[in-house]
Amino acid sequence: MSDTIRAAARTDVGRQRELNEDSVFIGGHVFVVADGLGGHKGGEVASAIAIDTIKPLADLTPSEAAAQINDAVQRANVAIFDRSRGDHTVTGMGTTVTAFVVDGAIGHLVHVGDSRAYLIRDGAIEQLSEDHSMVARMVREGRLTPEEAERHPQRSMLTRALGSERDVRLDDTDIPLAPGDRILLCSDGLTNMLSDAEIAATILDRIAPQEICDALIDQANERGGIDNITAALIELPASLVGAPLPTTRSIGGTNDAAAPRSARRALTWIGIVLIFALAITGGLRLWANSSWFVGETSGEVAVFRGLPMQLPLIRLRQVVDTTGIPVADLPEYLQGTVRDGIRASSRDDAQHIVTTQIAPNVVSTADPNPEPTASASPSITGSPTP
Ligand code: MG
Repeated sequence: MSDTIRAAARTDVGRQRELNEDSVFIGGHVFVVADGLGGHKGGEVASAIAIDTIKPLADLTPSEAAAQINDAVQRANVAIFDRSRGDHTVTGMGTTVTAFVVDGAIGHLVHVGDSRAYLIRDGAIEQLSEDHSMVARMVREGRLTPEEAERHPQRSMLTRALGSERDVRLDDTDIPLAPGDRILLCSDGLTNMLSDAEIAATILDRIAPQEICDALIDQANERGGIDNITAALIELPASLVGAPLPTTRSIGGTNDAAAPRSARRALTWIGIVLIFALAITGGLRLWANSSWFVGETSGEVAVFRGLPMQLPLIRLRQVVDTTGIPVADLPEYLQGTVRDGIRASSRDDAQHIVTTQIAPNVVSTADPNPEPTASASPSITGSPTP
């Protein structure tokens, strides 16, 4: 273990693509992987804009860079979006971004898309980022198993990326770090070819960051290299400023199983009584009033205020926006998802789901397998919120 951060990166076109649309940057305490989307030269341009916008942070102090990384990624989004609108040769381009800033004992992760950040500690690997893909969403909702997701033909369809809209929601996470931790940033060209366990084994068998990146990319190519492949490996130093003892760290998850059983049973009963009380007093209606979802009305995709369920006597849903998108024009798996209702946190969120997840997937007879693009913008017609 060294007394400074050691890092290396490699990006490779893979075995089947002609262009490498991935971009990678490692410099000082700033590390970024971007996987461009959009075919032709668009993806290459989008991922390069992302890297160029974020790269200057490497000249700042670690705490300045950590404080500014989110803004830098937001600026990259606007730059890609504006270029995509203004230059017809790159219309619809976008990119994933997984950016990591090491600030003493805290890692600052800003992420959108399906590139990944992993933490390798004490011989174990943990994915730090969440995939913003349709299949990952379906796995979270219990509609697909992780094994089905790995083979799903639409597994590269993203629900969020840079450049598809003027506003983007980023995942922004602080990760407590321990001396000697290793962080891997990579594009899906690696994770679609190798399992987490295989990636961990390759990293744990080797010491030098460059040797690790080379081995990962060689293995992904040996499996077929169907996409561009990028890996950046960061190894933290033997001591970190402000680091608590490694044994005290745990990442994510709280354990509430220690609550006394009688207290939990009492809470369960109180919960059941409360649900009845709510239903009786119309509380369910209040709940419905503050809930939103995307569903189907008269064969068309629509935004609803309410709950995606029907009960006798109580009206729990009402259409607030129609989209003009026939549900029958969506891929089959998405039709079922829409008919069951996709919950949203607000009217805006519901419209965002329509724009980013439904509209880009409308199947026309000319193109049965469309890439998600920014050019497909639905016309959402709204009625005033009641
Ligand atoms: Mg890729």
